[in-house]
Amino acid sequence: MSVRVRIAPSPTGFLHVGNARAALFNWLYARHTGGTFILRIDDTDVARSDPEYEDDVLAGLVWMGLDWDEGVGVGGPHGTYRQSDRLDRYAEVAGQLLAAGSAYHCFCTPAELDERRKEAQAQGRPPGYDGRCRILDPAESARRKGQGEAAVLRLGVPRPGVTIFEDVIRDEVRFDHQAIDDFVLVRSDGSPTYHLASTVDDVDYEITHVARGEDLLSSTPKHILITLAMGGTVPTYAHLPLLFGPDGKKLSKRHGDVSLKAYREGGYLPEAMFNYMCLLGWSYEAETTVFTRAEAIERFDLAAVSKNAAVFDPEKLEWMNGVYIRDLDPVDFIDRAIPFVEEDLGRELSGAEREQLGALGPLVQERVKLLTEVPDMMSFVLTTSLSYDEKSWRKVMETETTPAALDAAIDRLTVVGEWTAVVIETELRAMLDELELNARQGLQPVRVATTGSTVSPPLFETLEVLGRDMTLDRLRSARAKL
Ligand code: GLU
Repeated sequence: MSVRVRIAPSPTGFLHVGNARAALFNWLYARHTGGTFILRIDDTDVARSDPEYEDDVLAGLVWMGLDWDEGVGVGGPHGTYRQSDRLDRYAEVAGQLLAAGSAYHCFCTPAELDERRKEAQAQGRPPGYDGRCRILDPAESARRKGQGEAAVLRLGVPRPGVTIFEDVIRDEVRFDHQAIDDFVLVRSDGSPTYHLASTVDDVDYEITHVARGEDLLSSTPKHILITLAMGGTVPTYAHLPLLFGPDGKKLSKRHGDVSLKAYREGGYLPEAMFNYMCLLGWSYEAETTVFTRAEAIERFDLAAVSKNAAVFDPEKLEWMNGVYIRDLDPVDFIDRAIPFVEEDLGRELSGAEREQLGALGPLVQERVKLLTEVPDMMSFVLTTSLSYDEKSWRKVMETETTPAALDAAIDRLTVVGEWTAVVIETELRAMLDELELNARQGLQPVRVATTGSTVSPPLFETLEVLGRDMTLDRLRSARAKL
């Protein structure tokens, strides 16, 4: 049977890197096996679901290049793939489970349940639901329900019993039913729980492999029990290792950004993110950390995913992003950097400005790890009135030898014949010899005068890109300000 996998994000927050990793592994498995990758939206929690978050999920997947074959936005044989459109179907299954005796109505009020939980805890008994309404006569139950008494629907977990499944990643997993409450399928307001809705969808959509975070491991026996009660086919489960921060603690906001959006907007390349996320629980080859999408697809297997927690290390990701940036074609680099420059400037660039950036591109490309670093490194070429970084100005321009250095630089650069980096370098180095200055004393003033800061791409090449007129203008106005 052909592989059918899914991800089922709840649109109650921005797409978390953990969910993005789950999406990636499901996608890789589908592409590796020639199967189907499905996007379903778990939006039964109406109060917390927000279309903005759903858009963010879709945008995140598109950005990573994880295309889906069925699901929200692309359709398929199962309707909208949105749980909020399937409430009738969940109610239908609930009715069938009730009629078959697999589920029962429970009339215990929250206050009663709370009281009994506390009592059990005080006596050292397990705090879960004690099964009180399970023994009610079904006809009596139906009568009370018919009269409008509030009730939830619970699954009657077979007891004694044990659910055993072969997890692709964790091997055999067993849950004794003593440890599983008769959990709720339908709330008293008629809404289905995650357990019911998710399982019905997985059965109806003929999902063959459920690969999701290990945090859901304890839900899996419940889903298996529902599936069996429905007469459905139990899928194969794979529980992906949790993500930890470099300090060995569960990944959280403490470790920095945990939404994919933050990385999308933070100057990361999707191909670097893709590559790095592959390594969160899987490895291509012990020694190989950088590989292409095609290579990942060719080798990926759920069975090769490790059960040990995976470390999400932002520093390593940043390093990898630098590797991918340096590897870009220079034209591609500028195309990707321009939105960040425009965002920083608050306006669109003209064609001429784009060309200027293009000339500077290769100098900057070697030196950044994030596209967000580009505006600071490049914007100086675009402006007609340069602003100076205050600290750079104080440190460099208020030095005793600076006026003489700028004067000499202006004199020499006014009369050079050819305006190339090599010629500019020869002249400026001759200036250093003549004035007996070291590079810091003689060249940093030129850098600050022409770029506004002590941090810029290599100086001589930068001056070549700036052109003779702009270079001399800038040297003169900085000199005038001393
Ligand atoms: N909506 C659930 C979540 O976002 C889906 C979990 C699952 O894959 O079953 O955690």
